[in-house]
Amino acid sequence: MAETQAIIVGAGPTGIITALGLARSGIDVTVLERAPGIVDSPRAMVYHWSVLAGLDELGILQDAQKLGFKKQDYCYLVYRTGERIEWNLKDLVAHTPFAYNLHLGQNKLAEVALSHLLQLPNAQVHWNTQVTGLAQDEYGVTVTAEQNGQPRVFTADRVIGSDGARSRVRELLGQPFEGTTWPERFVATNIRYDFEQHGYARSTLMIDSQFGAIIAKIDESGLWRCTYCESSDLPEEQVLERMPAFFKEILPGVTNYELVQYSPYRMHQRAAKQFRVGRVVLAGDAAHATNPTGGLGLTSGLFDAYALYPTLTAVMRGEADDSVLDQWAEERKQTFLQIASPQASENKRLIFHSSDPVRLDQDLQTLRRLSSDKAFRMERLLFSRRLATAPIVPHHYFQGVSQ
Ligand SMILES: Cc1cc2nc3c(=O)[nH]c(=O)nc-3n(C[C@H](O)[C@H](O)[C@H](O)COP(=O)(O)OP(=O)(O)OC[C@H]3O[C@@H](n4cnc5c(N)ncnc54)[C@H](O)[C@@H]3O)c2cc1C
Repeated sequence: MAETQAIIVGAGPTGIITALGLARSGIDVTVLERAPGIVDSPRAMVYHWSVLAGLDELGILQDAQKLGFKKQDYCYLVYRTGERIEWNLKDLVAHTPFAYNLHLGQNKLAEVALSHLLQLPNAQVHWNTQVTGLAQDEYGVTVTAEQNGQPRVFTADRVIGSDGARSRVRELLGQPFEGTTWPERFVATNIRYDFEQHGYARSTLMIDSQFGAIIAKIDESGLWRCTYCESSDLPEEQVLERMPAFFKEILPGVTNYELVQYSPYRMHQRAAKQFRVGRVVLAGDAAHATNPTGGLGLTSGLFDAYALYPTLTAVMRGEADDSVLDQWAEERKQTFLQIASPQASENKRLIFHSSDPVRLDQDLQTLRRLSSDKAFRMERLLFSRRLATAPIVPHHYFQGVSQ
């Protein structure tokens, strides 16, 4: 008899939110996380309107909104000419009560979800617990881990590998991570400086083949994110030394900004060959990794979670057979490969690699329609919803479960 019904490997946002969905559906969950707490490296911070109903259903949207802020406006800024193409999400009010994006560091979102999870009697989280091994048979899954340097064994009926792009679970399943790694390095910085004072919109996509950047306000405390791109031939250990030259260019005359955090990243367009192997499924970055231009990475991870927890609950209650997990896996993989990944690659090309003036001119003509052409704007606004897939079984498990 397994100790718990579901082990979730990784307490990133995908793992914690999947755990919360399962636990609220009455499933016993155990989360194993190698870090001592929620990891706070500078990563996702924009949640598209389309994921907010899912957060609301889990009962965490209001708390998340208290820590972050709602935002409707966007701006493409052409660095060389200063042209601004501005548009917003207001037209969405006819489609959703959540006609805005939420800005909030992903660590804060995970902390909100964690605080709700820990209120449930059927959920536990083990920190400092690094999964090292996994074996499965017809009766269950045995997970081996190092907990504070000591070996530990856990057993479960099912395992969810949500342990990020370098997933150990994926590796233990022998699943190749198919696709490509970009030659560039992205540098994500968290900066305390009021970029709005300097003319930047709260979501600025700055188009330039040298100074392309994503500049966005993270929260109301004055924290902003600026992510730029550099050749990965440049030595990574000197990222910090090169950084002032970049900020001198985008914030001329400004020296009083405070660098709060930064992290270099290699970027990928990759997906696991299979998202399900027997009793184990992969979700979030463990299943698929994309470059972050346009914020489609965690968006995809959240949609994995929203479709997974009702589907897995139905299987674990004996109300559906395992084939629904294969269907979930295939739908999530194809959505990533056919929609999320190509769009993220296109976003990256536009923002960071617009060196061909003829192509840039064509791109700008298209982007200008965002301000002037409502039908075109709606098509763009509704795009992120295409990354969602419905649960394979109807979701009715929260009935009677308190938030
Ligand atoms: C600069 C940048 C900006 C981004 N901005 C956005 C954005 O605005 N919107 C968006 O949608 N996406 C964005 N993304 C993508 C987003 O950050 C990822 O998609 C997201 O982190 C995936 O969440 P996850 O929970 O699947 O994995 P992770 O966040 O990577 O979490 C994995 C967890 O597993 C733990 N772990 C790893 N190995 C083990 C092990 N062996 N045992 C136990 N625990 C383990 C890790 O410590 C970690 O806590 C951005 C990414 C970057 C780099």
